[in-house]
Amino acid sequence: MLRIVPVFLLLLASLPASGNEKLVALTFDDGPRPYVLFGQSGAPGLIHVLDQAHVNATFFVMGWRLTPRTWGDHRFETNIGINCVDAVRALVKRGDEIEDHTYSHVQLETAEKSKGEAWVIHDIQHGAELIEAVSGRRPVYVRPPDWILPEDARHDLEQRGYHILTIKGPAPVPLRDINSLDYLCAGLRPVHCPKPSLSASVLRQIELREKKGIYTHILAFHELSTTTTMLPELITDLRARGYRFVTIREYMKLVGPHSITAQNDRPHLRDVSHSTSAPLGLLHPLGELPHPPKGEAYEPLSLPAAGKM
Ligand SMILES: [Zn+2]
Repeated sequence: MLRIVPVFLLLLASLPASGNEKLVALTFDDGPRPYVLFGQSGAPGLIHVLDQAHVNATFFVMGWRLTPRTWGDHRFETNIGINCVDAVRALVKRGDEIEDHTYSHVQLETAEKSKGEAWVIHDIQHGAELIEAVSGRRPVYVRPPDWILPEDARHDLEQRGYHILTIKGPAPVPLRDINSLDYLCAGLRPVHCPKPSLSASVLRQIELREKKGIYTHILAFHELSTTTTMLPELITDLRARGYRFVTIREYMKLVGPHSITAQNDRPHLRDVSHSTSAPLGLLHPLGELPHPPKGEAYEPLSLPAAGKM
């Protein structure tokens, strides 16, 4: 009987203060990347890892990848004989969600300055149209590259029914993304990869939020081989802490914005202004790392020529 006490205390400590469920939405940007989703050279793919863990995730994909016969970026990716359209169909079949990461994946503030707001809106709408054509479902959620979106475009997109994912205020903390910093672990010499490990670093960010009474988290990853390798350990650790994995639509249904209004009555949610422990200089991958690391790109900064696809 003596051993029951510490186990009980451990369980009690892991319960959310509100009695609400502990939730994690795993999200992956910059795909679909068939060589990551299905694996290569004997390494298990992301789909296999998610299957083994019985987890569904949300994929914020780039529209240009959903053009016919495209398998990816010739500079950094391997053609494993599966194109991006078929890869998305495989995700949809297993119950994953496909949402919008724009068509072109350019920095939208810069794009608006040079091409105007209508171009920015079109880039997101065009991505949504291609996703709908392949998946059969219109995306609702948009994660702009680098979380950068001019305010006028944000307003107009919200008027059109899109929900824009963000990493900082004024959105309540549970509705803001956690930057996993996984792109810092890609490539042959990932000198900036969080120590001691990416998985430990993500858990540390979650622990910091838990200390403030926040038990629901949107984790922003990229479709990368290094992220895939780390994922089983992270999923196991989060499950051990009582977390359930949901897609972004399920997460939003359970966590916000109506639930958030109720939760905001609790002071701890108002007290937190930053949801990430990322070093300030590393928050914006597009700005800080203009050249993708050799070996594997976290995100191509320009479109491959259409003729090569
Ligand atoms: Zn991206």
